[in-house]
Amino acid sequence: MRLLVATRNRGKLAELTALFADIPELRLLCLADLAPLPEVVEDGETFLANAQKKAREMAIASGLPTLADDSGLMVDALDGAPGVYSARFTGEHATDAENNAELLRRLAGVPLESRAARFRCVLALATPDGAVGPHTRGECEGRIVFEPRGDAGFGYDPLFEVVSLGRTMAQLTSAEKHALSHRGAAARAMCEPLVDWLARDGASYGVG
Ligand code: IMP
Repeated sequence: MRLLVATRNRGKLAELTALFADIPELRLLCLADLAPLPEVVEDGETFLANAQKKAREMAIASGLPTLADDSGLMVDALDGAPGVYSARFTGEHATDAENNAELLRRLAGVPLESRAARFRCVLALATPDGAVGPHTRGECEGRIVFEPRGDAGFGYDPLFEVVSLGRTMAQLTSAEKHALSHRGAAARAMCEPLVDWLARDGASYGVG
C-alpha cells in the first residue's frame, strides 16, 4: 500500500516513516518521488482547511491516497498571528530571518510573561476521488524570547522557547524536538486512524 506524503521535505518523510514503521506493508512516498504535480495554493483560513485542500488536490493529481500537513505559530499577544500566514509573515518569498525579525519587532516592549505562543500542526488524509479522511492536530506550548538562540531546526525555532526545558526549539536535537513538537504529536495521533482508514477507504488505491 502506497501513501503519498504531500511534502518535498525528505526530513519530514523520514520522521513519518519511522513513526508509521509498525504499519504492515505501508510505503510512504513524497512529492520528490513523483513526476511534478501542480502547486497547491494555500489560501484557507485555518490550518485544517489548508491541510485538507493540499491532501485532496494532491490525491486527485497523483491517484494515490495522500497525507498532508499544515502548521504554523500562534502568538497570544498578536491575537494568534502569524497563524496560517507563518511562512509568508513578511511576504510571499519571506526568509526565516525576515519573519523572525518581524516577530521581534511586533513584540517589542511586550514583557516575557505576556509572550506565550504555540505551534500547531494539522495532518489530513484524502483519497483520489476527492473524499477527505480523518485528520489530527498537535500543539506545542512555549513563549517567544527576546533574541534568537540555537542553530537547529527551521522557521521560528530560534525564538520559540520550551519553558520546561529553558531552551529554544533550535537548541534541541531533532529527536528531542520530535518528541515534544506539534508535528510529532499530530503524527502520533494519526497512527491508529490511518490504519483504520487505509483498510476501509484506501484499499482500492495506492496498491502496487
Ligand atoms: P509548513 O506547514 O511546513 O508550510 O510551515 C508553515 C510555517 O510555519 C513555516 O514556514 C514556519 O515558518 C512555521 N513553522 C511550522 N512548523 C514549525 C516548526 O516546527 N518550527 C519553526 N517554525 C515552524
